[in-house]
Amino acid sequence: MTLDPTDWTTFRQQAHVMLDDMLDYQQHLRQRPTWQPLPSAKHPFFHQAAPQDPQDLSQVHQEFLDYILPYTIGNPHPGFMGWVHGGGTPVGMLAEMLAGGLNVNAGGRHQAPIQLERQLLSWIRQWFEFPPQASGLFVTGTSMANLIGVWVAQRARLGPSLRTQGLAGQTQRTLVAYASAGAHGCIAQALDLSGLGTQALHLIPLNDQFQMDCGALRARIKADRAAGLEPFLVVGTAGSVDVGAVDDLTEVAAICAEEGLWFHVDGAFGALGCLSPQLAPRFRGMQRADSIAFDFHKWGQVPYDAGFILVREDTLQRQTFATPAAYLRRDTRGAAAGSPWPCDYGPDLSRGFRALKTWFTLKVYGTRALGEMMANTCALAQQLGALISAQPRLELLAPIALNIVCFRFRCPDPNTVNAQLLIELHESGLALPSSTTLKGQFALRAAIVNHRTTLQDLEILVAAVHRLGMKLAPEPD
Ligand SMILES: *Cc1c(COP(=O)(O)O)cnc(C)c1O
Repeated sequence: MTLDPTDWTTFRQQAHVMLDDMLDYQQHLRQRPTWQPLPSAKHPFFHQAAPQDPQDLSQVHQEFLDYILPYTIGNPHPGFMGWVHGGGTPVGMLAEMLAGGLNVNAGGRHQAPIQLERQLLSWIRQWFEFPPQASGLFVTGTSMANLIGVWVAQRARLGPSLRTQGLAGQTQRTLVAYASAGAHGCIAQALDLSGLGTQALHLIPLNDQFQMDCGALRARIKADRAAGLEPFLVVGTAGSVDVGAVDDLTEVAAICAEEGLWFHVDGAFGALGCLSPQLAPRFRGMQRADSIAFDFHKWGQVPYDAGFILVREDTLQRQTFATPAAYLRRDTRGAAAGSPWPCDYGPDLSRGFRALKTWFTLKVYGTRALGEMMANTCALAQQLGALISAQPRLELLAPIALNIVCFRFRCPDPNTVNAQLLIELHESGLALPSSTTLKGQFALRAAIVNHRTTLQDLEILVAAVHRLGMKLAPEPD
């Protein structure tokens, strides 16, 4: 029995309707609320039993339109500034469809999709000024890319026995790693999953620009060595999740070189800033990393998901993951040629064709326009900063390094009021910033990542925050 349509003519008509609906959605995003909660009356829909009998495609699509489409978190919407999410593009969406049509398993073997992924790797190497022997891999996101970076650094330090004996063969050594106190939580998780434990990550205090304090880093490495610990890795942050701070990567690179440590960069959203000549100088030093983790699905606007790990030394990445298996036999000709394969560079065997939507995005828009778009989000962040500074009841809580603005409404008990204000703002559907805590203070956090966001959206945000603030706390502090 085949699952292909019995009547292709009808199927094509339905497919056109579905495609049109989705293009309508993208074209008219602005007419929708930024976010709205799933009404409780619609919850029972999600508790239906698994379907045993077939249902018409158009009926299922209608359910998608009724129950799913209106109730996503809303990151394609221009008013979305919560967390660091990309907006996606119509081009990326079409490329996703093509990848789905091909149903490529990009784990390996002799096929053009793998060639395309290698071509992307060569472009990425050039952007980051990495040598020809650098390797790389598309993965889900930067959480996975950081984990792979930590695994490769750990394997490079401990040698081949790590893969057979695990950490049990290393009882005499206590490896420790470093990152700024502003590092993303997935760095600690990567240390956890690598078997070293979260306590092996020593967080270094921030300076007043929210960057890792490099003097404190040097001192901690020295103290740790004196205490018998074995430093092996420093993670520099290129665009911190809280405030968008970029560590002094030149200095971090120098410390790693002096101390013989692996230099990994978490450049989840920031690293691609190197595509903008205007932003590139802020990431100086990143080119000296041993590995860089970043996402195409954030500033790069490629639809979810598309993360990438770049490693300076191909052999070190392969030695961490490649496994011999009879069914993965390589040939020099035929469909099983073309070794090494992507599956030799990470934990996944089967994997989707993430390179295609990334390639389409890069080709159709071009790296120049993508770089300009990223620089524009930074310019908008500065404009938002100016709007906030011009409003006496609002205040900035951190310097604006890139595209993230942390601020709050000024009032007595600001932590409580601003937390309440944020929830009401979300429920208004007008704009969607998120929050963070900076030095114990609750901050509204607008991350301008979406290419669709304009000054008008920022004005809507500021007006809504002011209005809700005045309602919740009319009297100033
Ligand atoms: C988003 C982000 C991550 C995690 O990346 P995912 O793609 O969500 O897994 C890690 N580090 C930083 C700085 C981030 O902004």
